Amino acid sequence: MTARLIVENARTTEGLAVDLIIEGDRIAAIGSGIAIGATDEQSRFDAAGGMLCPPFVDGHVHLDKTLIGLPFIPHIPGNSVAARIEAEKTLRRSLTMPVQERGGRLIEQIAAYGTLAVRSHVDIDTEIGLRGLEAVLSLKQSHGHLIDIETVAFPQSGVLRDPGTADLLDAAIAAGADLVGGLDPAGIDDDVTGHLDAIFAVAQRHGVGLDIHLHDGGSLGAFELRQIAGRTVALGLQGKVAVSHAFCLGELDEADFGRTAAALAEAGISIMTTAPGSVAMPPVKRLQAAGVRVFCGSDNIRDAWSPHGNGDMLERAGIVCDRQDFRADEDLALAYGLVTEVPAAVLGRRDPPLEAGSPADFVILPARSVAEAVAGRPLDRAVFRGGRLVAESGKLLEAFG
Ligand SMILES: [Zn+2]
Repeated sequence: MTARLIVENARTTEGLAVDLIIEGDRIAAIGSGIAIGATDEQSRFDAAGGMLCPPFVDGHVHLDKTLIGLPFIPHIPGNSVAARIEAEKTLRRSLTMPVQERGGRLIEQIAAYGTLAVRSHVDIDTEIGLRGLEAVLSLKQSHGHLIDIETVAFPQSGVLRDPGTADLLDAAIAAGADLVGGLDPAGIDDDVTGHLDAIFAVAQRHGVGLDIHLHDGGSLGAFELRQIAGRTVALGLQGKVAVSHAFCLGELDEADFGRTAAALAEAGISIMTTAPGSVAMPPVKRLQAAGVRVFCGSDNIRDAWSPHGNGDMLERAGIVCDRQDFRADEDLALAYGLVTEVPAAVLGRRDPPLEAGSPADFVILPARSVAEAVAGRPLDRAVFRGGRLVAESGKLLEAFG
């Protein structure tokens, strides 16, 4: 007989009382008062009036880079992206704990916060080849009970400055990576056309989308965004391309911002932001008003690029509010969307959350509204994955660790 779980005394984000009946890994029924009189469940969970939320989605992580699981490694400074790439490679050669173990520990940590889907970029270069990707693909299997993983073949050392990488990107997609990555066509490869030709060719060959890291600033970055948009339209990839960071969007004058945002909207390009503290940030509301989707990711979590980060997407939504000066309830709700429904849509997650027939993946938070959750960032949360309670109060239950 299929396991049957009842979750009672929850509230929707609109404040309506609601119960759930879960059979196996799916929501069989959801509604007010449906737990009353039910007697055939194997277990019952009292949500105690907590708010029922969809799981968080982290639109940008690097499962292969994390140092979680190792004793704390002091940050190695580097004044440029190129310098930090070399520092990371040196560190990478010295690590004895495999990606499967470090990445696995990071997954366990973020799943305990309620993040049940991620897009992970994975380094592809001529030194590591596809080994990092193979490790992350194995995490998809070993940790599929906790999280769904989408992978991006990421040329962290450039494409043209590391000859042979384009072929490796092609092999990575053939081996199971979901999207083609890119990195600063001007700033790293010093050849916008050459870099974009190479990565879009791989995407076109395999019929997959792209997610491109772009740190290049100002009008140069904006020019690159418009180049990416033009190619996206030309190849019919609308809705399948994202650009991560795009700090330049926070640095443009009105005219340059307007034409760049219009090009992004026409191409259906989504923008990922971490809400960075040290550089310009894409303006969330202005982009949304122009028709551009904005979503959030953690990016680096305790790795060679940053000793910071914990993968808690509710905290990330709060950081967005800090950076964008969001204070009104509706603005806090907007930030919440950047860590829930928007990245879910960008990742192409098809099942609507919290409906009968959908996967029983959800989070229960001690808050009366989305705004209160974002403002308070409570750690006291219950996380359900596949119809099972997997974490409470930010800690994975023993059976799932
Ligand atoms: Zn990144």
